[in-house]
Amino acid sequence: MNKPFSAMDMARENVQLLTPYMSARRLGGNGDVWLNANEYPQAPDFAFTDRNLNRYPECQPADVINRYAAYAGVNPDQVIAGRGADESIELLIRAFCEPGQDAVMYCPPTYGMYSVSAETFGIPQKIVPTLDGWQLDLDSIAANLHGVKLLYVCHPNNPTGNPVREQDLRYLFEIVNNRALIVIDEAYIEFCPQFSVASWLKEYPNLVILRTLSKAFALAGLRCGFTLSSPEIINVLMKVIAPYPLSSPVAAIAAQALLPEGIEVMRERVAENCRNRQMLCDELSKLPLTETIFPSETNYILVRFRESERVFRSLWNDGIILRDQRRQRGLDDCLRITIGTRAECLRVIAAIATLKMP
Ligand SMILES: *Cc1c(COP(=O)(O)O)cnc(C)c1O
Repeated sequence: MNKPFSAMDMARENVQLLTPYMSARRLGGNGDVWLNANEYPQAPDFAFTDRNLNRYPECQPADVINRYAAYAGVNPDQVIAGRGADESIELLIRAFCEPGQDAVMYCPPTYGMYSVSAETFGIPQKIVPTLDGWQLDLDSIAANLHGVKLLYVCHPNNPTGNPVREQDLRYLFEIVNNRALIVIDEAYIEFCPQFSVASWLKEYPNLVILRTLSKAFALAGLRCGFTLSSPEIINVLMKVIAPYPLSSPVAAIAAQALLPEGIEVMRERVAENCRNRQMLCDELSKLPLTETIFPSETNYILVRFRESERVFRSLWNDGIILRDQRRQRGLDDCLRITIGTRAECLRVIAAIATLKMP
């Protein structure tokens, strides 16, 4: 009797055990107000006129790299482009971590892909929860650095919205002392550019910065992100990146988005988003079901509600889809709300205001 074929039994053991990342798209929902993925609420307009789709694209399209380097204030040899910041997270693991041996470290509550990428490749994880105000536990980080190759720090942090204190980031480089790469995930840095550590690349050879066009540039569907680092680290990443990480349409649209006009429009979007965030916070703070609104420097806010289940479910049934964070460490009763258009923010406020306290 032949044994029936089982793909799952054939998969690598750590893949069998893996819980995939539950992206907002996979979680689904049936709404008309989508505030669960930190996307920009309106679609930008781009023209794609390339007639040479029979040809392979450049691996690292020069205009995309040069324009991003100019925007970020670094040299083109300090930039590598790929399929979103998520690809950068994985690329670093593939390039630098020996499976079963080198560890990655991260500090929850934080972005979920550091853990998922490590698990996929069988990389041990050292998890050092943050302290009050979601700041780094530097003593515990120092005590657990043995074997750590990559230390991921989300700055500002998703889903809590706070930047990491500058003196703590400085101290981190001291305690790590070039024994590991420090990866600062700046996915939301356009919403608080004063906190960027891009200028530190001159000082620290082990600094890696992750960037994306998915958030402030309003291009989550494009799948384009960047890694900034020393030319030496970029060269290592170039050895393992896919031969054609950006398709020609992606490269053409990214190049347009990074023209001076594109960057100007992005800055206007950020200013509008911050005004909406302020309005949403002011109005939510007047509602009795709101317990705590955590200060945010990003395009989302984390809110602790009284009766969070009722808030989440009622809005879901109204077609307003938020991101449930209640299973994350330290985030009981917390929901994450992406800042939408002004009208969408008003819908959120009205929907929560109609829920009566019991
Ligand atoms: C959205 C996000 C990413 C992924 O960005 P993509 O470029 O869309 O892959 C990475 N890190 C954080 C913290 C994010 O919130």
